[in-house]
Amino acid sequence: MIQLSDRLLKMEESATIAMSRKSRELKTQGKDVISLSLGEPDFNTPQFIKDAATDAMNNNFTKYMPVPGYDDLRESISHKFKRDNGLDYGKDQIVVSTGAKQSIANVVLSLINPGDEVIIPAPYWVSYIEIVKVAGGIPVIVNAGIEKDFKITGPELAKAITPKSKLMIFSTPCNPTGTVYNKEELRGLADAIGKHPSLIVLCDEIYEHINFEGKHESLAQFEDIYEQVVTVNGVSKAWAMTGWRLGYIGAPKTIADACNKVQGQFTSGTCSITQKAAIAAMEANPEVLKDMILAFKNRRTLVLDALSNIPGIKTNNPGGAFYVFPDCSSYFGKSYGALKINNASDLCMFLLEEALVALVTGDAFGDPNCFRISYAASEETLNEAMRRIKDALSKLK
Ligand code: PMP
Ligand code: GLU
Repeated sequence: MIQLSDRLLKMEESATIAMSRKSRELKTQGKDVISLSLGEPDFNTPQFIKDAATDAMNNNFTKYMPVPGYDDLRESISHKFKRDNGLDYGKDQIVVSTGAKQSIANVVLSLINPGDEVIIPAPYWVSYIEIVKVAGGIPVIVNAGIEKDFKITGPELAKAITPKSKLMIFSTPCNPTGTVYNKEELRGLADAIGKHPSLIVLCDEIYEHINFEGKHESLAQFEDIYEQVVTVNGVSKAWAMTGWRLGYIGAPKTIADACNKVQGQFTSGTCSITQKAAIAAMEANPEVLKDMILAFKNRRTLVLDALSNIPGIKTNNPGGAFYVFPDCSSYFGKSYGALKINNASDLCMFLLEEALVALVTGDAFGDPNCFRISYAASEETLNEAMRRIKDALSKLK
Protein backbone atom coordinates (compact mmCIF):
# COMPACT_ATOMS: atom_id res chain seq x y z
CA MET A 1 0.00 0.00 0.00
CA ILE A 2 1.39 3.39 -1.01
CA GLN A 3 1.78 5.81 1.89
CA LEU A 4 1.86 9.38 0.67
CA SER A 5 3.74 11.98 2.70
CA ASP A 6 1.98 14.06 5.34
CA ARG A 7 3.14 17.09 3.39
CA LEU A 8 1.29 15.91 0.30
CA LEU A 9 -1.80 14.82 2.20
CA LYS A 10 -2.11 18.28 3.75
CA MET A 11 -1.92 19.95 0.35
CA GLU A 12 -5.15 20.97 -1.41
CA GLU A 13 -5.47 20.52 -5.14
CA SER A 14 -5.43 23.85 -6.99
CA ALA A 15 -9.10 24.87 -7.29
CA THR A 16 -8.50 26.77 -10.51
CA ILE A 17 -6.93 23.74 -12.13
CA ALA A 18 -9.53 21.34 -10.65
CA MET A 19 -12.40 23.40 -12.06
CA SER A 20 -10.85 23.71 -15.50
CA ARG A 21 -10.23 19.94 -15.50
CA LYS A 22 -13.86 19.33 -14.57
CA SER A 23 -15.13 21.56 -17.37
CA ARG A 24 -12.80 19.86 -19.88
CA GLU A 25 -14.24 16.47 -18.79
CA LEU A 26 -17.80 17.71 -19.24
CA LYS A 27 -16.92 19.06 -22.69
CA THR A 28 -15.48 15.67 -23.65
CA GLN A 29 -18.83 14.14 -22.63
CA GLY A 30 -20.44 16.44 -25.18
CA LYS A 31 -21.76 19.06 -22.71
CA ASP A 32 -21.75 22.64 -23.94
CA VAL A 33 -19.82 24.03 -20.96
CA ILE A 34 -18.51 27.59 -20.94
CA SER A 35 -15.37 27.68 -18.85
CA LEU A 36 -14.64 30.97 -17.14
CA SER A 37 -12.60 29.13 -14.53
CA LEU A 38 -9.01 29.42 -15.65
CA GLY A 39 -6.96 32.61 -15.65
CA GLU A 40 -5.65 32.19 -19.14
CA PRO A 41 -5.72 34.77 -21.96
CA ASP A 42 -7.72 33.51 -24.96
CA PHE A 43 -5.35 35.40 -27.30
CA ASN A 44 -2.54 33.67 -29.18
CA THR A 45 1.10 34.38 -28.43
CA PRO A 46 2.21 37.25 -30.74
CA GLN A 47 3.90 36.10 -33.96
CA PHE A 48 7.19 37.92 -33.30
CA ILE A 49 7.62 35.86 -30.12
CA LYS A 50 6.91 32.60 -31.95
CA ASP A 51 9.41 33.65 -34.62
CA ALA A 52 12.08 34.19 -31.95
CA ALA A 53 11.39 30.65 -30.70
CA THR A 54 11.76 29.23 -34.21
CA ASP A 55 15.08 31.06 -34.60
CA ALA A 56 16.22 29.70 -31.22
CA MET A 57 15.50 26.13 -32.32
CA ASN A 58 17.15 26.63 -35.68
CA ASN A 59 20.19 28.07 -33.94
CA ASN A 60 20.30 25.03 -31.67
CA PHE A 61 19.46 26.67 -28.36
CA THR A 62 18.33 23.24 -27.29
CA LYS A 63 20.78 22.27 -24.56
CA TYR A 64 20.96 22.76 -20.80
CA MET A 65 21.14 26.44 -20.03
CA PRO A 66 22.38 28.40 -16.97
CA VAL A 67 20.09 27.67 -14.01
CA PRO A 68 18.94 31.29 -13.40
CA GLY A 69 18.46 31.94 -17.15
CA TYR A 70 20.58 32.95 -20.13
CA ASP A 71 22.60 36.13 -19.56
CA ASP A 72 20.98 37.96 -22.48
CA LEU A 73 17.49 37.16 -21.14
CA ARG A 74 18.36 38.40 -17.67
CA GLU A 75 19.84 41.55 -19.17
CA SER A 76 16.63 42.17 -21.11
CA ILE A 77 14.59 41.61 -17.91
CA SER A 78 16.86 44.07 -16.12
CA HIS A 79 16.11 46.67 -18.84
CA LYS A 80 12.40 45.87 -18.65
CA PHE A 81 12.36 46.46 -14.88
CA LYS A 82 14.02 49.85 -15.42
CA ARG A 83 11.89 50.84 -18.43
CA ASP A 84 8.46 49.81 -17.11
CA ASN A 85 8.84 49.95 -13.34
CA GLY A 86 11.75 52.31 -12.66
CA LEU A 87 13.41 49.45 -10.72
CA ASP A 88 17.14 48.74 -10.61
CA TYR A 89 17.72 45.00 -10.65
CA GLY A 90 21.10 43.89 -11.96
CA LYS A 91 21.44 40.62 -13.87
CA ASP A 92 22.64 38.78 -10.76
CA GLN A 93 19.47 39.80 -8.91
CA ILE A 94 17.26 38.12 -11.49
CA VAL A 95 16.27 34.45 -11.55
CA VAL A 96 14.17 33.05 -14.40
CA SER A 97 11.99 30.04 -13.59
CA THR A 98 9.44 27.64 -15.04
CA GLY A 99 6.56 30.07 -14.53
CA ALA A 100 5.92 32.63 -11.81
CA LYS A 101 4.47 29.75 -9.82
CA GLN A 102 7.93 28.24 -9.52
CA SER A 103 9.42 31.67 -8.79
CA ILE A 104 7.07 31.95 -5.80
CA ALA A 105 7.85 28.41 -4.63
CA ASN A 106 11.61 29.12 -4.88
CA VAL A 107 11.28 32.23 -2.71
CA VAL A 108 9.14 30.48 -0.11
CA LEU A 109 11.46 27.45 0.07
CA SER A 110 14.44 29.79 0.35
CA LEU A 111 13.04 31.80 3.26
CA ILE A 112 10.57 29.81 5.30
CA ASN A 113 11.39 27.59 8.25
CA PRO A 114 8.68 25.49 9.89
CA GLY A 115 6.66 27.75 12.19
CA ASP A 116 7.49 31.00 10.39
CA GLU A 117 4.47 33.19 9.77
CA VAL A 118 3.57 34.34 6.28
CA ILE A 119 1.12 37.22 6.00
CA ILE A 120 -1.31 36.82 3.12
CA PRO A 121 -4.07 39.37 2.49
CA ALA A 122 -7.34 37.69 1.48
CA PRO A 123 -8.64 37.30 -1.16
CA TYR A 124 -5.41 35.71 -2.37
CA TRP A 125 -4.32 33.58 -5.28
CA VAL A 126 -4.94 29.88 -4.49
CA SER A 127 -1.37 28.63 -4.68
CA TYR A 128 0.19 31.02 -2.14
CA ILE A 129 -1.30 29.18 0.83
CA GLU A 130 -0.41 25.70 -0.36
CA ILE A 131 3.18 26.63 -1.24
CA VAL A 132 3.61 28.17 2.22
CA LYS A 133 2.14 25.06 3.89
CA VAL A 134 4.53 22.76 2.00
CA ALA A 135 7.44 24.76 3.43
CA GLY A 136 5.98 24.38 6.96
CA GLY A 137 5.05 28.06 7.16
CA ILE A 138 1.93 29.30 8.91
CA PRO A 139 -0.33 31.46 6.73
CA VAL A 140 -1.63 34.50 8.63
CA ILE A 141 -4.62 35.85 6.76
CA VAL A 142 -5.56 39.54 6.78
CA ASN A 143 -9.07 39.91 5.41
CA ALA A 144 -9.95 42.68 2.99
CA GLY A 145 -13.62 42.57 2.10
CA ILE A 146 -15.45 43.84 -0.94
CA GLU A 147 -16.48 47.02 0.91
CA LYS A 148 -12.78 47.96 1.07
CA ASP A 149 -12.23 47.17 -2.62
CA PHE A 150 -10.42 44.07 -1.33
CA LYS A 151 -7.38 46.12 -0.20
CA ILE A 152 -5.59 46.10 3.12
CA THR A 153 -4.06 49.21 4.65
CA GLY A 154 -0.68 49.82 6.27
CA PRO A 155 -2.14 49.88 9.81
CA GLU A 156 -3.99 46.59 9.15
CA LEU A 157 -0.76 45.03 7.95
CA ALA A 158 1.12 46.43 10.96
CA LYS A 159 -1.36 44.70 13.30
CA ALA A 160 -0.69 41.31 11.68
CA ILE A 161 3.11 41.52 12.03
CA THR A 162 4.61 39.52 14.92
CA PRO A 163 8.20 38.56 15.77
CA LYS A 164 7.56 35.33 13.79
CA SER A 165 6.53 37.13 10.58
CA LYS A 166 9.02 36.28 7.89
CA LEU A 167 7.23 36.95 4.63
CA MET A 168 4.18 38.64 3.14
CA ILE A 169 2.75 37.61 -0.24
CA PHE A 170 0.25 39.58 -2.31
CA SER A 171 -0.56 40.48 -5.90
CA THR A 172 -1.31 43.79 -7.59
CA PRO A 173 -3.27 43.76 -9.87
CA CYS A 174 -4.84 41.05 -7.77
CA ASN A 175 -5.94 37.59 -8.70
CA PRO A 176 -8.87 36.94 -7.90
CA THR A 177 -10.29 40.45 -7.32
CA GLY A 178 -8.74 42.59 -10.07
CA THR A 179 -7.91 45.14 -7.37
CA VAL A 180 -5.00 47.47 -8.14
CA TYR A 181 -3.06 49.24 -5.38
CA ASN A 182 -2.14 52.85 -6.20
CA LYS A 183 1.14 54.47 -5.16
CA GLU A 184 -0.24 56.03 -2.00
CA GLU A 185 -1.76 52.73 -0.83
CA LEU A 186 1.52 50.93 -1.47
CA ARG A 187 3.35 53.67 0.46
CA GLY A 188 1.01 52.91 3.37
CA LEU A 189 2.04 49.24 3.24
CA ALA A 190 5.70 50.24 2.88
CA ASP A 191 5.48 52.27 6.12
CA ALA A 192 4.45 49.13 8.01
CA ILE A 193 6.99 46.94 6.20
CA GLY A 194 9.88 49.34 6.81
CA LYS A 195 9.40 49.14 10.59
CA HIS A 196 10.27 45.41 10.44
CA PRO A 197 13.54 45.06 8.52
CA SER A 198 13.52 41.25 8.75
CA LEU A 199 10.15 40.99 6.97
CA ILE A 200 10.41 40.18 3.26
CA VAL A 201 7.52 40.96 0.91
CA LEU A 202 6.83 39.09 -2.28
CA CYS A 203 4.94 41.42 -4.60
CA ASP A 204 3.39 39.42 -7.45
CA GLU A 205 3.03 41.75 -10.44
CA ILE A 206 2.23 39.20 -13.12
CA TYR A 207 -0.85 41.21 -14.24
CA GLU A 208 1.08 44.50 -14.38
CA HIS A 209 0.19 45.29 -17.99
CA ILE A 210 -3.48 44.40 -17.61
CA ASN A 211 -4.32 47.61 -15.81
CA PHE A 212 -7.26 49.76 -16.96
CA GLU A 213 -6.99 52.68 -14.58
CA GLY A 214 -3.53 54.10 -14.67
CA LYS A 215 0.13 53.36 -14.30
CA HIS A 216 1.23 50.14 -12.64
CA GLU A 217 2.99 50.81 -9.35
CA SER A 218 5.64 48.45 -7.97
CA LEU A 219 6.22 48.04 -4.25
CA ALA A 220 10.01 47.89 -4.72
CA GLN A 221 10.03 51.52 -5.92
CA PHE A 222 10.27 52.74 -2.32
CA GLU A 223 13.99 52.93 -1.58
CA ASP A 224 13.59 52.50 2.16
CA ILE A 225 12.15 48.98 1.67
CA TYR A 226 13.82 48.00 -1.63
CA GLU A 227 16.03 45.44 0.17
CA GLN A 228 12.91 43.80 1.65
CA VAL A 229 11.00 43.27 -1.59
CA VAL A 230 11.01 40.47 -4.12
CA THR A 231 9.24 41.45 -7.34
CA VAL A 232 7.65 38.53 -9.20
CA ASN A 233 6.57 38.76 -12.82
CA GLY A 234 6.28 36.57 -15.90
CA VAL A 235 5.20 36.29 -19.50
CA SER A 236 2.08 34.09 -19.10
CA LYS A 237 -0.55 36.78 -18.87
CA ALA A 238 0.44 39.91 -20.80
CA TRP A 239 2.13 37.99 -23.59
CA ALA A 240 -0.41 35.16 -23.74
CA MET A 241 2.34 32.62 -23.08
CA THR A 242 0.80 30.39 -20.37
CA GLY A 243 2.03 27.20 -22.02
CA TRP A 244 5.61 28.38 -22.54
CA ARG A 245 6.34 28.41 -18.78
CA LEU A 246 8.47 31.39 -17.85
CA GLY A 247 8.38 33.61 -14.77
CA TYR A 248 11.08 35.63 -13.03
CA ILE A 249 12.03 37.53 -9.92
CA GLY A 250 14.00 40.67 -9.20
CA ALA A 251 15.30 40.33 -5.64
CA PRO A 252 18.03 41.20 -3.18
CA LYS A 253 21.08 39.20 -4.32
CA THR A 254 21.03 36.88 -1.28
CA ILE A 255 17.50 35.77 -2.15
CA ALA A 256 18.28 35.46 -5.87
CA ASP A 257 21.29 33.26 -5.04
CA ALA A 258 19.13 31.10 -2.78
CA CYS A 259 16.46 30.67 -5.47
CA ASN A 260 19.19 29.75 -7.95
CA LYS A 261 20.38 27.05 -5.53
CA VAL A 262 16.85 25.62 -5.00
CA GLN A 263 16.16 25.61 -8.72
CA GLY A 264 19.51 23.97 -9.47
CA GLN A 265 18.35 20.94 -7.50
CA PHE A 266 14.69 20.86 -8.54
CA THR A 267 14.35 21.76 -12.21
CA SER A 268 17.41 23.61 -13.61
CA GLY A 269 16.68 26.54 -15.92
CA THR A 270 13.40 26.76 -17.81
CA CYS A 271 13.07 25.71 -21.47
CA SER A 272 15.89 27.15 -23.60
CA ILE A 273 13.56 27.96 -26.52
CA THR A 274 11.08 29.73 -24.25
CA GLN A 275 13.92 31.80 -22.81
CA LYS A 276 15.02 33.03 -26.21
CA ALA A 277 11.40 33.80 -27.14
CA ALA A 278 10.94 35.72 -23.89
CA ILE A 279 13.77 38.09 -24.88
CA ALA A 280 11.55 39.24 -27.76
CA ALA A 281 8.70 39.88 -25.29
CA MET A 282 10.94 41.75 -22.85
CA GLU A 283 12.40 43.96 -25.56
CA ALA A 284 9.04 44.77 -27.18
CA ASN A 285 7.37 48.08 -26.46
CA PRO A 286 4.45 47.33 -24.08
CA GLU A 287 2.40 49.64 -26.37
CA VAL A 288 1.91 46.60 -28.62
CA LEU A 289 -0.36 45.19 -25.91
CA LYS A 290 -2.85 48.04 -26.09
CA ASP A 291 -5.44 46.28 -28.29
CA MET A 292 -5.47 43.26 -26.00
CA ILE A 293 -5.82 45.46 -22.93
CA LEU A 294 -8.67 47.37 -24.55
CA ALA A 295 -10.39 44.07 -25.34
CA PHE A 296 -10.09 43.04 -21.68
CA LYS A 297 -11.41 46.42 -20.57
CA ASN A 298 -14.49 46.10 -22.81
CA ARG A 299 -15.10 42.61 -21.46
CA ARG A 300 -14.86 43.88 -17.91
CA THR A 301 -17.57 46.45 -18.72
CA LEU A 302 -19.72 43.76 -20.30
CA VAL A 303 -19.44 41.44 -17.28
CA LEU A 304 -19.95 44.21 -14.70
CA ASP A 305 -23.02 45.51 -16.59
CA ALA A 306 -24.48 42.02 -16.78
CA LEU A 307 -23.83 41.39 -13.07
CA SER A 308 -25.44 44.69 -12.12
CA ASN A 309 -28.65 43.34 -13.68
CA ILE A 310 -28.66 40.22 -11.50
CA PRO A 311 -30.51 40.75 -8.21
CA GLY A 312 -28.45 40.16 -5.06
CA ILE A 313 -25.00 40.23 -6.68
CA LYS A 314 -22.46 42.78 -5.43
CA THR A 315 -19.21 43.72 -7.17
CA ASN A 316 -16.29 46.07 -6.73
CA ASN A 317 -14.83 47.88 -9.73
CA PRO A 318 -11.74 45.85 -10.59
CA GLY A 319 -8.99 48.03 -12.03
CA GLY A 320 -6.93 45.28 -13.63
CA ALA A 321 -6.23 41.60 -14.35
CA PHE A 322 -9.11 39.74 -16.05
CA TYR A 323 -11.21 38.69 -13.09
CA VAL A 324 -14.38 39.82 -11.36
CA PHE A 325 -15.04 38.51 -7.86
CA PRO A 326 -18.74 39.05 -7.08
CA ASP A 327 -20.28 38.60 -3.67
CA CYS A 328 -23.11 36.07 -4.00
CA SER A 329 -23.90 35.58 -0.30
CA SER A 330 -27.50 36.77 -0.72
CA TYR A 331 -28.17 33.43 -2.46
CA PHE A 332 -27.01 31.36 0.53
CA GLY A 333 -29.98 29.55 2.09
CA LYS A 334 -31.95 29.50 -1.18
CA SER A 335 -32.97 26.25 -2.89
CA TYR A 336 -33.65 24.74 -6.26
CA GLY A 337 -35.96 21.78 -5.69
CA ALA A 338 -34.18 19.55 -3.17
CA LEU A 339 -30.84 21.30 -3.68
CA LYS A 340 -29.96 23.88 -1.05
CA ILE A 341 -27.23 26.46 -1.62
CA ASN A 342 -25.23 26.82 1.59
CA ASN A 343 -22.11 28.52 0.29
CA ALA A 344 -20.21 29.74 -2.78
CA SER A 345 -18.94 26.22 -3.56
CA ASP A 346 -22.55 24.95 -3.72
CA LEU A 347 -23.44 27.90 -5.93
CA CYS A 348 -20.55 27.22 -8.32
CA MET A 349 -21.56 23.54 -8.55
CA PHE A 350 -25.18 24.58 -9.20
CA LEU A 351 -24.04 26.99 -11.94
CA LEU A 352 -21.86 24.31 -13.49
CA GLU A 353 -24.67 21.76 -13.55
CA GLU A 354 -27.63 24.01 -14.24
CA ALA A 355 -26.09 26.78 -16.36
CA LEU A 356 -23.11 24.83 -17.72
CA VAL A 357 -20.82 27.71 -16.74
CA ALA A 358 -17.60 26.87 -14.86
CA LEU A 359 -16.47 29.43 -12.27
CA VAL A 360 -14.24 29.08 -9.20
CA THR A 361 -15.56 29.31 -5.65
CA GLY A 362 -14.27 32.12 -3.46
CA ASP A 363 -13.40 29.61 -0.72
CA ALA A 364 -10.30 28.73 -2.70
CA PHE A 365 -9.23 32.38 -2.61
CA GLY A 366 -10.04 33.00 1.05
CA ASP A 367 -13.43 34.70 0.64
CA PRO A 368 -16.34 32.28 1.01
CA ASN A 369 -18.93 34.91 0.03
CA CYS A 370 -17.67 35.27 -3.53
CA PHE A 371 -16.92 33.43 -6.73
CA ARG A 372 -14.41 34.25 -9.44
CA ILE A 373 -15.24 34.91 -13.07
CA SER A 374 -12.29 34.89 -15.45
CA TYR A 375 -13.39 37.04 -18.37
CA ALA A 376 -10.54 35.98 -20.66
CA ALA A 377 -13.09 34.87 -23.26
CA SER A 378 -14.77 36.43 -26.30
CA GLU A 379 -17.63 38.93 -25.82
CA GLU A 380 -19.99 36.46 -27.48
CA THR A 381 -19.03 33.74 -25.00
CA LEU A 382 -19.27 36.15 -22.08
CA ASN A 383 -22.73 37.36 -23.15
CA GLU A 384 -23.98 33.79 -23.32
CA ALA A 385 -22.36 32.88 -19.98
CA MET A 386 -23.87 35.88 -18.22
CA ARG A 387 -27.28 35.12 -19.69
CA ARG A 388 -27.05 31.53 -18.41
CA ILE A 389 -25.87 32.62 -14.95
CA LYS A 390 -28.73 35.13 -14.61
CA ASP A 391 -31.24 32.57 -15.77
CA ALA A 392 -30.03 29.85 -13.40
CA LEU A 393 -29.84 32.20 -10.39
CA SER A 394 -33.43 33.30 -10.99
CA LYS A 395 -34.47 29.68 -10.33
CA LEU A 396 -33.18 29.78 -6.77
CA LYS A 397 -35.98 30.46 -4.28
N1 PMP B 1 0.64 34.65 -9.73
C1 PMP B 1 -0.63 34.90 -10.00
C2 PMP B 1 -1.33 35.96 -9.22
C3 PMP B 1 -1.32 34.19 -10.99
O1 PMP B 1 -2.59 34.45 -11.25
C4 PMP B 1 -0.63 33.18 -11.70
C5 PMP B 1 -1.44 32.43 -12.71
N2 PMP B 1 -1.00 31.41 -13.30
C6 PMP B 1 0.71 32.94 -11.38
C7 PMP B 1 1.32 33.69 -10.39
C8 PMP B 1 1.54 31.89 -12.04
O2 PMP B 1 1.78 32.16 -13.37
P1 PMP B 1 2.74 31.29 -14.27
O3 PMP B 1 3.25 30.17 -13.44
O4 PMP B 1 1.92 30.86 -15.43
O5 PMP B 1 3.85 32.23 -14.69
N1 GLU C 1 -3.23 31.58 -12.37
C1 GLU C 1 -4.29 31.10 -13.17
C2 GLU C 1 -5.58 31.10 -12.39
O1 GLU C 1 -5.63 31.62 -11.30
C3 GLU C 1 -3.98 29.78 -13.82
C4 GLU C 1 -4.20 28.54 -13.03
C5 GLU C 1 -3.13 28.27 -12.06
O2 GLU C 1 -1.96 28.36 -12.44
O3 GLU C 1 -3.48 27.98 -10.92
O4 GLU C 1 -6.57 30.63 -12.89
